[in-house]
Parts: sequence; structure tokens; C-alpha cells
Amino acid sequence: MLNKRIVLTWFERAAESMAANKDELGILDAAIGDADHGINMDRGFNKLRSELPKMEDLSLGEMLKRAGMVLLSSIGGASGPLYGALFLKGAITVGDANELDAAAFMTFLATGVAGLVERGRTEENEKTMYDVWAPVLREYKKNLDAGMGLEEILKACVDAAETGMKATIPMLALKGRASYLGERSIGHQDPGATSSYYLITALYESVRG
Ligand code: ADP
Ligand code: MG
Ligand code: MG
Repeated sequence: MLNKRIVLTWFERAAESMAANKDELGILDAAIGDADHGINMDRGFNKLRSELPKMEDLSLGEMLKRAGMVLLSSIGGASGPLYGALFLKGAITVGDANELDAAAFMTFLATGVAGLVERGRTEENEKTMYDVWAPVLREYKKNLDAGMGLEEILKACVDAAETGMKATIPMLALKGRASYLGERSIGHQDPGATSSYYLITALYESVRG
């Protein structure tokens, strides 16, 4: 079950991870973008972390919605609206529930990622963060259908996220700033795919406890 306590821990861990990997994300973005992805993610998740005490009394759905608003407005760049859409759209599915089982979290994730895709007008193999979220969703669904529990499902999703992240290296960028580089974008790992991997890892670790 995913509850408010786990979600707060998720955001806390994600903030730690974005801070710890700020330089790496910046270096990845320097190669095919404008070098600010680490700064953007660290700023957004640090802001979210500072809001956590105020969020404790919100319902789970309101908490996820609030996170989307904070990330949308404080990450900035291309990635802020995309992460914002993921949480804002996903939050709508939560309704009054204060706990999500593995199936309900699938609905959150699938709807959130659909929001991201709508916002980014992206498809797979365009070298973006969606190249992590798409295989993660597939892995999640496969394992949910096989009857696995949330923790086990997310463990498998971390591996799928890592594979998806690394698969962006040989891709030609077709969306965002990296696409301006054309063929020169090939051979570099996508920064947004990398921060998405960290976000999914933080989620798994929070559920595992
Ligand atoms: P900016 O490019 O505005 O500086 P960031 O550096 O924070 O923004 O984020 C760049 C990341 O955003 C990319 O690595 C990519 O994963 C993601 N991204 C950019 N455009 C799109 C898009 N249209 N769809 C999905 N993801 C995108
Ligand atoms: Mg950038
Ligand atoms: Mg920028």
C-alpha cells in the first residue's frame, strides 16, 4: 500500500537524490542541452522538501496535486511542466483515497504519464524522459497482472528504468533542446531520463522502507 507517509518519504528521498546527483545531471545536460537540468531538479525538489511540513495534513490526492504544482512552478525549463503534468494528472485519479494498492497506483502512474506525453507531445525513442516512463509502465503492468505486490513490482521497475535510461544513449534526440543538435545528440544519455530513473528509485526505496 502506498500511503501519505510513504509519499512524504518518497519526496524527501527524491530531494536528497536530486541534490546528490545535481552535478551529474548538469554534466549530462551540458553535453546535449544547456547544462541546467541538475540545477532545475535540485531547485524543484528542494522547494518540494521545504513544503513537506505544510503538506502533512492534506489528503493523499491533495498531497500529490500540491507536489505537481510545486514541481511545475519551481523546476522550470522543459522538464518542470512535464513532471508537473505527471503528478497533477495522476493526482486526479486518487480521489478521496488515503491509500493506494498496486492497482490504484498503476492508474495514478498510467494517467500521470499520459499527461506527460500529452504535454511533451512525445513518443518513445525520441530520447526523452518518456523513454524511461514507457518501459516502466509496461513492466509495472506486466508484474501487476502476474499478481506481484507493490514493492516487488517497483523493484522490477527500477531495473526497467535503468535499462530505459541507458537505451537513450544511442538515440537521436527528436524533442527538446537536444534535438537542435541533430546527429550530435547521439552517444549521450538523456538528462531527463536520468532524473526520472532517480525519481523511480526513490519511490521504490520509500515503499521498501
Ligand atoms: P531545458 O531543456 O528547458 O533546459 P531541462 O534541462 O530541465 O529543461 O530538461 C531537459 C529534459 O526534458 C530532457 O533531457 C528531456 O528528458 C526532457 N524533455 C524535453 N522536451 C521534452 C518533450 N517534448 N517530451 C518529453 N521530455 C522532454
Ligand atoms: Mg536544460
Ligand atoms: Mg534550460
